[in-house]
Amino acid sequence: MDFTGKTAIVTGGSRGIGRAVCLELAKGGANVVLCYAGNEAAAQETVRAVEALGAKALAVHCDVSDSAQVNGLTGAATAAFGQIDILVNNAGITRDNLLMRMSEAEFDAVIAANLKGAFLCMKAVSRLMLKQRYGRIVNLSSVVGLRGNAGQVNYAASKAGVIGMTKSLAKELAARGVTVNAVAPGFIETDMTAVLSDAARAAAQGGIPMGRLGAPEDVAKAVAFLASDETAYITGQVLAVDGGMAM
Ligand code: NAP
Repeated sequence: MDFTGKTAIVTGGSRGIGRAVCLELAKGGANVVLCYAGNEAAAQETVRAVEALGAKALAVHCDVSDSAQVNGLTGAATAAFGQIDILVNNAGITRDNLLMRMSEAEFDAVIAANLKGAFLCMKAVSRLMLKQRYGRIVNLSSVVGLRGNAGQVNYAASKAGVIGMTKSLAKELAARGVTVNAVAPGFIETDMTAVLSDAARAAAQGGIPMGRLGAPEDVAKAVAFLASDETAYITGQVLAVDGGMAM
C-alpha cells in the first residue's frame, strides 16, 4: 500500500500492535507520529525501526486521556509534517477483575484511556481532516467489545463504546472524504496478553478456528488496508482480525 506524502498519528506506537502499525505504514512511505504513555525507550526503538525503512518518524509523550496533551500531539504532528491524513487510535490498557471486585478506579482508568482517549484524538483531527476533505481514522476495538468477557466489564464497555463512536463519527464525516472504521482483534501476542496464565492462553487458543494466536503484524496489515486510499467507499465498519474467533 502506498502512503507516500501521507502523515499518520499512531497512538500507543511504542509497543505491540501500535509498533507493528507504525512499521506497516512506514513500509508504504508514511511519515509516522507515534505517541507513548511512559515507555520512551520503546518509543525511540520504534522511531529507529521506522527510519530504517526509509520513512520519517517522531515520538511524542502523550497521555491520550488528557485533552491538553492530545492537542500537543496533533500540534507536534502538524508542526513537523504540515498535515494529518491518518489517525490510528491504538493506545489501550486493561485492568481486569470480576465486577464484584472491580474498583471504581479500575473502571475509570480503562474508560479514560481506551474510550475517552479515542474521542479526544478524533476530535483533535476532525476539523483538519474536514478542511482537507480527506482522512482515514482507524480505531482499535476488540472481540471483547463484540462478545463480552468475564473479568473485563470495564474493557468490554470501552471497546463496545469505540464501535459506537466509530459508526457515529463515520456518519458525521462521510460526505467529506473522511472514513472511520474499526478493527476488532482477537487474541494477539503482545505485552497485554503476556500476563495471562498458560491455562488461559490454552483456553483462548482452543476457541480460535485457525488454531493459533495472532501476531501484531496480522492486525497491522488490516489497519493499513483501512488507512489506505483503497478503502474510499468503506466507512463505519468493524473488521475482525481474530482467526475466526468471533464468527
Ligand atoms: P500493549 O502491548 O500493552 O501496548 C499498549 C500501548 O498503548 C503502549 O504503546 C502504551 O504506551 C500505550 N498506552 C497505554 N495507555 C496509554 C495512554 N493513556 N496514552 C497513550 N498511550 C498509552 O497493547 P497491545 O496488545 O499492542 O494493544 C494495542 C491495542 O489493541 C489496544 O487498544 C488493545 O486494547 C487492542 N487489542 C489488543 C488485543 C491483544 O490481544 N493484544 C486484542 C484486542 C484488542 P507505553 O509503551 O508508553 O506504555
